[in-house]
Amino acid sequence: MNEQIEKMLKIYFHLEQFKTGQREIIEAVLEGNDVVAMLPTGGGKSLCFQLPAYILNGPILIVSPLLSLMEDQVEQMKLRGEKNVIALNSTLQFMERRKYLQNLSNYRFIFVSPEILQNDFVINALKKVDISLFVVDEAHCISQWGHDFRPDYSRLGDIRRQLNSPPCLALTATATKEVLKDIQRILQFRIENKQFIYSIDRPNIAITVEKLTNVDEKIARIVNLVQSLKGAGIIYCSSRLWTERLSQVLIDSGMNEVGFYHGGMDQEQRILIQQQFLYDQLQVVCCTNAFGMGINKQNIRYVIHFHFPSQLESYMQEIGRAGRDGQNSLAVTLLTDSDYEVPKTLMETEFPSYEKLYRTIYFLHETQDESFSYEKINEQCGISETQWRYIEYHLTALKDRKLTPENLISIIWSAIENRLSVKQEKLRKMRKWLTTDGCRRQTLLAYFDEENAPTVLKNCCDQCGVDLTVFEGEKVDTDDILKMDWEEELKMIFCKASD
Ligand code: ADP
Ligand code: MG
Repeated sequence: MNEQIEKMLKIYFHLEQFKTGQREIIEAVLEGNDVVAMLPTGGGKSLCFQLPAYILNGPILIVSPLLSLMEDQVEQMKLRGEKNVIALNSTLQFMERRKYLQNLSNYRFIFVSPEILQNDFVINALKKVDISLFVVDEAHCISQWGHDFRPDYSRLGDIRRQLNSPPCLALTATATKEVLKDIQRILQFRIENKQFIYSIDRPNIAITVEKLTNVDEKIARIVNLVQSLKGAGIIYCSSRLWTERLSQVLIDSGMNEVGFYHGGMDQEQRILIQQQFLYDQLQVVCCTNAFGMGINKQNIRYVIHFHFPSQLESYMQEIGRAGRDGQNSLAVTLLTDSDYEVPKTLMETEFPSYEKLYRTIYFLHETQDESFSYEKINEQCGISETQWRYIEYHLTALKDRKLTPENLISIIWSAIENRLSVKQEKLRKMRKWLTTDGCRRQTLLAYFDEENAPTVLKNCCDQCGVDLTVFEGEKVDTDDILKMDWEEELKMIFCKASD
């Protein structure tokens, strides 16, 4: 088997050797085990399911948490020459979807969103093909205890069983022991299974936290950092408004290649920003946490948190977008005292208030209209889509119990309280990390249950000492890139015209 998979690595992926862990994980998958694997961000997790797909009989199913991530992966696979790949998600038109569903067995890779797996047509079509491997990417999203908990994910184990329980591969870069256990439970792992846990440390990323007294100082520091740091960078903010404000500040300070990105923008605009950043036409993107997952840009040199995220899992994912090429990179968190309140407020808006929950449940109870839409509920009860999905998930799970509205409210409300307390605990740990006077790296890894102290690094963290001048220097000269494109294009037009 050894030789075979090495050959495949060269033939299909044009790669010379495996990265840490890949071989072991691939072998365990090919032996038919249920496998959960943890590799660092950028550690090459995709290969762990892509390579086995060329050996196993029957399509492999990949559950992927984010549309942009899915499309990016499909795109990259197509570029590599793989044609037998499809993505089933909500953006497909009905007819298109039907065509795909009728021909599922022709594909080698079937990407799906967890939401689309709730659809009976899709499940029935999948049942008819022999799925050889059930992959869950970014598997921490499954867990009650992992960040980004998505209710639809928690049904994946049942779905796997409906598909005849193919072997399972769950991949993540940020899971605590508790989350790993939860992943195995929810996906209904066989008792005999394999775990591959590698260090998720990213030694080429220096980690610093800078304390400042107020927001003006923070803004001034951002301008200063962006002007002095070399290469491309991402700046994370907690709100859409801030992404726009900061990018304007940077533009006003004389930087041209700055853009912003958030979930409130048109899809077209978002794709444009993402592409410009990928192709080095933008140097800096000020964004909310909607940006980054699935962006396979190797040369991001720094990630700045203008606001810190609400948990260390998100922090780890976000800084992990820097330095995928292995070069020195920097993660800076700017911190003022008033920042501590921001994530708490955000967190609370994820769930409906008691009053809104009450209104929603009674509205559903009293309405005669079975085919109500989210828009209607939003209009009547004022809940956001995320809040509605959360309620809807519980209502579906409780459907058969024929509960009174009072009982429903009390069960769902206690679930919300539980969820909030999990989140508050995570936020508490995030804050604790920000105020630690120990090594940042060591404390961060300890949170993910990595016991071995990381190797001593020259540029480790602000507590151990970082030489910021290492990260300073010239930007890539984007003017040249742009100019060249235009000249090429003009030349082409000119040549065509004179033909
Ligand atoms: P992850 O999902 O773990 O964050 P990816 O699977 O997206 O990481 O891989 C990150 C990058 O590493 C990709 O550009 C991929 O082509 C590259 N890569 C994966 N495996 C290898 C390998 N064995 N040798 C060299 N590059 C690799
Ligand atoms: Mg990945």
